Amino acid sequence: MNTTEVGAGAPGAPIVKVEERLFQNRYLVDAGRPHIRIKPHTEPSKALMALTHLCPAGCYSQNDKGQVEAVVDGCVECGTCRVLTAKTGEVEWNYPRGGFGVLFKFG
Ligand code: SF4
Repeated sequence: MNTTEVGAGAPGAPIVKVEERLFQNRYLVDAGRPHIRIKPHTEPSKALMALTHLCPAGCYSQNDKGQVEAVVDGCVECGTCRVLTAKTGEVEWNYPRGGFGVLFKFG
């Protein structure tokens, strides 16, 4: 068992890190057509900044100018960023085109 720390599942089931589970997924990247875009900004809101910590796939980061950037190739389409920035409107969110995006593996 290559596991540690916390996890969820049936009693007695192995505990697996989130990162290890995410590694099982596969993605078909729609090159040049990201399904999530951040609107141009000079200073990110607190909600947008929070995504640098809250996105489970680590898609958001802060650049050296203090702006938040997104690389959504590993997005699991959880919608956290969509909900968190609903009031600020900083994120333009769509599902990937058919056939693209995440392919979940549950094995
Ligand atoms: S939908 Fe979820 S996984 Fe995808 S970029 Fe937003 S927070 Fe990250």
